[in-house]
This record gives sequence, C-alpha cells and structure tokens, in this order.
Amino acid sequence: MSRQIIKDFVYYFSKPLPFNLLRKLTGENFIFPFYHLVADNTPIHIKNLYPAISVEHFKNDLEFLLKNYHPATINDVLAFVENGKKSEKPLFFLSFDDGMRECYDVIFPILKQKGLQSAFFINPAFVDNKTLFYKHKISLIIEALKVTKENFLVSELMVFLDIFSANNKQIIETISRFKYSDTSKIDKIGKILKIDFESYLKKEKPYLTLSQVLEMQDNGFIIGSHSNDHPKFREISEFEMQNQLGQSFNYLNKNIHPQILSFAFPFSDINVPFSFFQFLDTKIKIELSFGTSGIKKDVLPKHIHRVPMEDNLKNATRIIRSEYAYFLLKSIFRKNTINRQ
Ligand SMILES: [Zn+2]
Repeated sequence: MSRQIIKDFVYYFSKPLPFNLLRKLTGENFIFPFYHLVADNTPIHIKNLYPAISVEHFKNDLEFLLKNYHPATINDVLAFVENGKKSEKPLFFLSFDDGMRECYDVIFPILKQKGLQSAFFINPAFVDNKTLFYKHKISLIIEALKVTKENFLVSELMVFLDIFSANNKQIIETISRFKYSDTSKIDKIGKILKIDFESYLKKEKPYLTLSQVLEMQDNGFIIGSHSNDHPKFREISEFEMQNQLGQSFNYLNKNIHPQILSFAFPFSDINVPFSFFQFLDTKIKIELSFGTSGIKKDVLPKHIHRVPMEDNLKNATRIIRSEYAYFLLKSIFRKNTINRQ
C-alpha cells in the first residue's frame, strides 16, 4: 500500500480527535510547511507537474496555521535546532522552493502583510530567467502534445523516442519519466515540437529576478540554496552534489550575502549518502538543511523535514492532520526517525 493511501486512511480515523490533542500526542509542536507557488491560473510550465494552489486556498491555509500555531522567525528555527529539535510552543515556519516569480508577485505581499518571516530556496541557474528547469520544460512539452494537431511532428518524436504504435498518452508517460540526465533529450524534443524554451523564458519570466530576491531579503526574508539547477540528488554522483552546492553558494555569497547558510534539498534527500551531510556541515558550514519527508524526525541535528503542501489541492487542515495521524501510526513501529550512515 502506498504511503499516500495509508495517510488518507489514518486521516479518517483521526477525525474524531480534536486537532490540538492529536498534535500533543505526537509531541511534534514545530512544523515546517512548504510550497512552490500560489497562482489563480496555473502557468503552463507547472500545469502538467502539480496543481498550483489559489490565493484563497493559500490564505485559508495561513488562517488554519495561525489559529493552531504561532508564527516562527528564523531565530526560533535556529533555537529549535540548538535545543535538540524540541519546542514547547506550537510553531510553524513556511518556506518556498524553486524561486518562482509568484513568490514575489503573490506570496511576498501576503506574508509581509501578515508579518510572517519565511524562507525562499532558490536555484541560481534559474534566477533572472537564465534557464528553464528541466521539469518545467517537460510540462511545456506535455502541453504541446496535448494540443498539437501536427501529426508529422508527433511521428518524428516517436522515431526519436523509439516508440511505435504509441498514442500521445504513451509518449507523455515516457517524457514524464525523464530525468535531469535526460536534459539534452528534453531539449531535442522541444526542438522537434517547435517549442522555443528561450522565448518562453523571455516572455513569461517564470522565475524571480536577483533584484526581487534582494528586495525580499531586505524585508527580512531568508534566502537559501535549493542547489544550482535542481537535479534529483539520488540520481547524481556525490561529486556532482558537491558541485551543485558549491555553485549555488558561490552565487549566493557573491550576490545575496544571506544572513544564514541554509539549504533545501531539491525533490528529496532520500538515499543521499551520510558523507554528503558531512560535507554540508564541514565544508559549506551549513546552519540549517531541509528535507521534504513530512512530519518526521532525523538523527542529523541541523536537518529538518518539511511538509509538502501542494498535495492534490488538499487544504492545510487535512494535510497536517493526516501527517500527525501517520506519525502516530508509525510511532507504534518506532519508524518516525530517519537514521543515517
Ligand atoms: Zn524544488
């Protein structure tokens, strides 16, 4: 049974329990929800990857969080780590990945108005719309395949992919599975389908600019690294992981001078070797690092897990409650701590 099905299942069983009791039973008072973007109209580079949540949805999530938790500052997060990840008070700290333009256009004004200090984890390769994230290219390709009437282009694509007797659905499934290491193939497919990634970047400007990032930092927001161009770390070598960190912190230290050194793993930290965490600690001298495993403990003292909040448009009430219920279920089997080494 998939983790998601179990989470949905335990959610229904937990419903009779008052939320605060559920939270107290887990002992997990400090939570770290994270998002990518908030948009009433999902941009095409996102559309075929995950649903963008609306402004209203986001504001309702904030209302739920503010009702049940106190908003934390980055100093609270640092103190939490100092205290062995214990917090008496219920606290939440938000973060946003991938440096999408909506972080500045939509999220930043809302957070500023509510006085919520948060973190933005950016990829220097995308800042100022220099390059398009390979996953965002995939979303554009899928969209083109959904609407194209030009069968000869699809035939050419089938030859390139070595897929025969395929319909568009099968091609889409193949392309959805493409990895970071398939970037040159993805670019080639873009050419076959006559998708101009460069002009899309120029026209749509999907990402933050450096001046927007600096303005957010001047307003007290935390800017951290999300790697240079967002590979899945378990699919690249440790040498490449180190390069990703080196490149992103060279950029951050040169252009942004972040007040603390923080890093959020792109996609997830699953199967990342312990030696890489040692590298983060001793070479990068990271103060905080973040994973995406939901409400979960980790033996690494400075590594914190965040809760993905864009799960099929479920609201925060539902996502956090099912995280807690799942945590309680796993506590029976003592499976709530990620052990490394
Ligand atoms: Zn990301």
